[in-house]
This record gives sequence, structure tokens and C-alpha cells, in this order.
Amino acid sequence: AIILGIESSCDETSAAIVKNGRQVLSNVIYSQIDIHQPYGGVVPEIASRNHVKKIGIIVAQAFKDANISYDDVDAVAVTYGPGLVGSLLVGLSFAKAFSFAAGKPLIGVNHIEGHISANYIDNPDLEPPYLTLVVSGGHTHLIRVDDYDSYEVLGQTRDDAAGEAFDKIARTLKLGYPGGPAIDKAALLGDPHAVEFPRAYLEENSFDFSFSGLKSAVLNHLNGLKMKGKEFRVEDIAASFQMAVVDVLVDKTVAAAVATGLKEICLSGGVSCNSLLRKKMRQRCQSEGLVLHYPKATYCTDNGAMIAGAGYFKYEAGVFAPEDLTADPNLRLG
Ligand code: ATP
Ligand code: MG
Ligand code: FE
Repeated sequence: AIILGIESSCDETSAAIVKNGRQVLSNVIYSQIDIHQPYGGVVPEIASRNHVKKIGIIVAQAFKDANISYDDVDAVAVTYGPGLVGSLLVGLSFAKAFSFAAGKPLIGVNHIEGHISANYIDNPDLEPPYLTLVVSGGHTHLIRVDDYDSYEVLGQTRDDAAGEAFDKIARTLKLGYPGGPAIDKAALLGDPHAVEFPRAYLEENSFDFSFSGLKSAVLNHLNGLKMKGKEFRVEDIAASFQMAVVDVLVDKTVAAAVATGLKEICLSGGVSCNSLLRKKMRQRCQSEGLVLHYPKATYCTDNGAMIAGAGYFKYEAGVFAPEDLTADPNLRLG
């Protein structure tokens, strides 16, 4: 089946056309990064307005790139949560209108389920069950994927998400927005053992995460240096912070794989672009005899293809949205 996927939960307006959940015919992404950059973060009202401006153009472009007509799609899948309510409503309203006008069924997709499904793209052999680490701007979840539509959350962050921590520390270090890629880049030139920041492992056998203590430790360290008038290299702080985050993500994910007996691990969400996370996870999976997957960078951060992909599996299962589907900014998985 061919699915049109629409994503507008945060600051990317995106539409994609995907065949059978894995083959991308088009994936058009308009990012508002430049618009929000001066504010150091996403301004919700500005985000909604720009989604309104772009959504029609982006969807039209997705059909043009795929070289198909409205009639060729079997359904329209759309993110209805979690995310910014005003932003979500733009994509959802558009998808409803398309569904009604073109006479195609509507499918509601959880944004996190979208991130997870990004791993099916260009990966014909990946099938549940497997373990997935969702690391994005707002989420840090370890999830056991039992089936295409069945998830068990094994652990999640108790405070900040991994991406949020990257963004906040980058702001403190004046590395700009978005912070993840900036820290990743700066860290390449730094010493990851310059400062041994704390790693929060929480209770034994817990698969939960906590990054707020690390964030405070970095801030305290910087304040201490400033008070003593000591010089420091931003690159060293970035590298040491990144190493602390990655150590915990890798250790907990591998421990969860061992505990559940799952042999395949997938990374998803914007932070799964991180070069150190990919490298360390690859090394550990190799030594533990685990198989690792992660999406191409374009499919890690927000995109319509992952929403169309997740929508396909719902289409196959006959799970369609009611006509009065509404945005749910706090939508949870499962
Ligand atoms: P959510 O998916 O939880 O609703 P979101 O949609 O804003 O949040 P994503 O688009 O999945 O999040 O990812 C954006 C996040 O990924 C940002 O926090 C960004 O800093 C982070 N990120 C992107 N690239 C990298 C990188 N190379 N290293 C670390 N973090 C990164
Ligand atoms: Mg974004
Ligand atoms: Fe996201």
C-alpha cells in the first residue's frame, strides 16, 4: 500500500509518500530552524504560523517528487501527538481535509511510534521483536517492540530528555541552536576525559534515565571555573558531557537487551544522529553479539516518511482514525 505521511509536531513541516512502510517515494522536509535560531529554541506560536504557510506547498511537492497523483495513495497518516498543540493541529487539519476531499482513510500516528518506525525504512529484513532506544528532543525511552503495533516501555527519563540536555548545555556553552549537532561537532576536538561528570544509573536493574543531575554538574563546574578565573576549552566540556550521556545510554540499552534476551537493537530519534552514540553502541553491540540498526540521518530527526511508515502498519492492521480525531499534546505510547 502507498501512504501519504504528514508531520508537523514541532518545527519541521514534512510530507512523504512511502510504499509498504519501507520504500520512500518522496520525503519533503521544511525545517524552521533558521526562524527559531534567534530565540535559542522553538517558539510555539511562530511554529504554528509557519506550518500554516508551508503545509500545502510541502504536500504538493511530496506528490510531485513521487510522481504520483492523489488517487494513487491508499491512506493519509498524520502525527496527532505528542508535540506542540498548535503545530499538531495544522498537520492534523490538513490531513483530515485531504482524507475527506480525496476519499482516503485517515490514520493517526503517535510521533514516537513514527521515530521507532524510521528503522524499517530501507531495511527490508527488520521485524519485531527488538529493543529500541528512542532518544529525541523530548523523549528518552527504552522500548521493547513486540509487534508492529505493540510496545512495552521498559524505562524512560525521570526528568530531562537526552536531546533536551544536549540543547541546554549547548546554550550554556554558547554553541548555538540546535545544540545536539553543535556539541557533536565541538566534541570531536575535545578530550572526553577532561572532566569526569556524574553518570546517573539510578537503582540497580532500573532502565530509567535521569539527565538533570548531569546538567547541574556541568553548570556547577563552569561556574566554579569562572569564579576561580580559570581558562577552559569549550570542546573539552562538550566532549566530557557527551561521553557521560552516551555511557549511560549505551550501558542501559545493552543491559536491557541482555535482560530481555532480545538480540536486535534499533536507535531512533534526533539524538541517534550522534556520532559518539553510534560509534560506542556499534562497538558494544559487536562485543556482545547484538545486531544494531539506526536510520539514515534524515530519518532520525522529524520527517514525514517515518509517519507514513508507521501509518502503513496500522493500515495493514485495519486501524483507522475516527473523523473527530483531535491533537493530543501529551499522547503516550501503548
Ligand atoms: P520529540 O521527538 O521527542 O517530540 P523532537 O521532535 O523535537 O522531540 P527530534 O526531531 O527527534 O526531536 O530530535 C531533535 C533533537 O535531536 C534535538 O534535541 C537535537 O539537539 C538532537 N540532535 C540532533 N542531532 C544530534 C546529534 N548529532 N547529537 C546529539 N543530539 C542531536
Ligand atoms: Mg525539530
Ligand atoms: Fe521528534
